[in-house]
Amino acid sequence: MGASGSKLEKALGDQFPEGERYFGLENFGNTCYCNSVLQALYFCVPFREQLLEYYANNKNPGDAEENLLTCLADLFTQLEKALGDQFPEGERYFGLENFGNTCYCNSVLQLEKALGDQFPEGERYFGLENFGNTCYCNSVLQALYFCVPFREQLLEYYANNKNPGDAEENLLTCLADLFTQISSQKKKTGVIAPKRFVQRLKKQNELFRGYMHQDAHEFLNFLLNELVDILEKESHAAKSIPETSPPEKIANGPNNPQANGVKKAPLVTWVHKNFQGILTNETRCLRCETVTARDETFLDLSLDIEQNSSVTSCLKNFSSTETLNAEDKFFCDKCCSLQEAQKRMKIKKPPQVLVIHLKRFKYVEQLGRNKKLSYRVVFPLELKLSNTMEDADSEYSLFAVVVHIGTGPNHGHYVSLVKSHDHWLFFDDENVEMIDESAVQTFFGSAQEYSSNTDHGYILFYESIAANDSS
Ligand SMILES: [Zn+2]
Repeated sequence: MGASGSKLEKALGDQFPEGERYFGLENFGNTCYCNSVLQALYFCVPFREQLLEYYANNKNPGDAEENLLTCLADLFTQLEKALGDQFPEGERYFGLENFGNTCYCNSVLQLEKALGDQFPEGERYFGLENFGNTCYCNSVLQALYFCVPFREQLLEYYANNKNPGDAEENLLTCLADLFTQISSQKKKTGVIAPKRFVQRLKKQNELFRGYMHQDAHEFLNFLLNELVDILEKESHAAKSIPETSPPEKIANGPNNPQANGVKKAPLVTWVHKNFQGILTNETRCLRCETVTARDETFLDLSLDIEQNSSVTSCLKNFSSTETLNAEDKFFCDKCCSLQEAQKRMKIKKPPQVLVIHLKRFKYVEQLGRNKKLSYRVVFPLELKLSNTMEDADSEYSLFAVVVHIGTGPNHGHYVSLVKSHDHWLFFDDENVEMIDESAVQTFFGSAQEYSSNTDHGYILFYESIAANDSS
């Protein structure tokens, strides 16, 4: 069996039921309706047993006429005997594409061979073991690992704060520990099991327990917020004095006796310095022309997508002007009443690392569930962010893509594409391979609604290429 099967086996371990077989069924072009029913019937044990018994007693190899019953019985017999080689391998049923049965130990060695002399000094390319549908986690971890400023700051933080004696384990220490493990390997390539990290993640958030397919973006968002929380708590615990950022004086007055101290400025951690940007929400009252601006911070941008579009056009839509009228009027402080207004969102401060989440999973009312949008959305290798409030365009370079593979929101697989020292690498759990830069465009999506290509860029990581002197 392929990689997904051996993962299931690993996940079940000792608890793998004696004599039971869990085989996927290959999809021959939208035959999942059939596969799914066949699986249900196979696991209807009395039915299975009776069918097999019937077949064993009635099989007449000579001149047996083939019919649906014999075909079904034959299929079940194959499953029962687990004739691996002859049996179609079926990761596709689970929405997993088969990337060939390259054994992972071979794939990492091949990578080393392929890079040869060009293997970047001091760099490590390690696959991450999968513990049962943990690809959502592995793909994001690889993207973060190759976000070099983030990695360096995490390792530095860890080296300075590691307190082996009584350090409390949390997601930050587990992540730092994993990155340290990878970066300090003697070998240049190989496979690492992010076991502690995954265990901690499951302990921390019940959303990620179980072996269901998870959302990589939800995971990334949870992780970054969790890291920020941990750093903020540590900072508060370390000192109860005001934060490092310049404190803002608040006018003292007779009506406000408490406000004679300093207003606590929000703490800016190194996680913020990497990922945080500021959006400003501008509302212009159409009666008095007063513009009200409200700032919001973000760690990633979630963009609505359209068929045959690009990240640039999705960003334009994101910042387009929206008119608030009818039921949706705006309360203007100057007019002291509800007024028609124009609203637009602008990027006030672009982040150092711009993380763009393409909203490929959309709730469709007619279906009563989420649907995956396979739209073709071009993402450039170099991105110009023009709708910011800063004078110059912000320029970014793509360095990682988390790809969702599969047709639906509730099943599938995640892999990541990573650019490291001008080489593009393909991380699929334990597998690490080199790919051509030109292969990145095969992950844009499909121009037609039904396409055999189900590999779509889902989370994009762009790094600012402007000199990082600001902030
Ligand atoms: Zn007004």
